[in-house]
Amino acid sequence: MRQGVRWLVAVAAVSGLLVPAGCVQQDYGWATSYRPDHNAKIPVVMPQQAPSISQQFYRDPDGSGHLGIDIIDKIGTPVLAAAGGQVIDSYFEPAYGNRITIDHGPNADGLRMMTVYKHLNSRGVSQGAKVERGQQIATLGNTGALAGGLPHLHLEVRREVRPQVFRAIDPNTVWAGGVGQVTCFDPTAPIEPGAFRITYPVRCR
Ligand SMILES: [Zn+2]
Repeated sequence: MRQGVRWLVAVAAVSGLLVPAGCVQQDYGWATSYRPDHNAKIPVVMPQQAPSISQQFYRDPDGSGHLGIDIIDKIGTPVLAAAGGQVIDSYFEPAYGNRITIDHGPNADGLRMMTVYKHLNSRGVSQGAKVERGQQIATLGNTGALAGGLPHLHLEVRREVRPQVFRAIDPNTVWAGGVGQVTCFDPTAPIEPGAFRITYPVRCR
């Protein structure tokens, strides 16, 4: 029973179905709170035009958890590369559905950074493709059992901690505008070179 309940909660959490009581969910400009027991909370500033974040990052002591953020929007919404790089995988699997991984190369410390996009409705790039920041790579969807039927983009950011070993980090730590400053993609706004920085992977209205 306990195992069963834990599993259900885990699936609901992973799929972004748990919205904390008392929060008002909006389509734009809203970000849900961090889990109360998550000790690395970041003040998140959402542009009013940005599609909302329905679940934040957390990692349990055993390494499991919700290792990305969930962005809610309609099925078919263009999904944009959060930074430039090379597609290293693009495929379908039952749990996370259509998924794409982009390798962004080494950051300022010489460690490679990756972004992962899950539950996509369709994939527009194949393994090996080079992509620019802001380029459409896919459409948002609800594919994969862990999407729970809810249309959303699950975005992960992974950092190489030692050669070929990657660890998910909170995407809110690497926005182009600064920690916690969700940054819409704007082709006219320059991004400071140097540290690895991401922009929002769906268009702001
Ligand atoms: Zn997710």
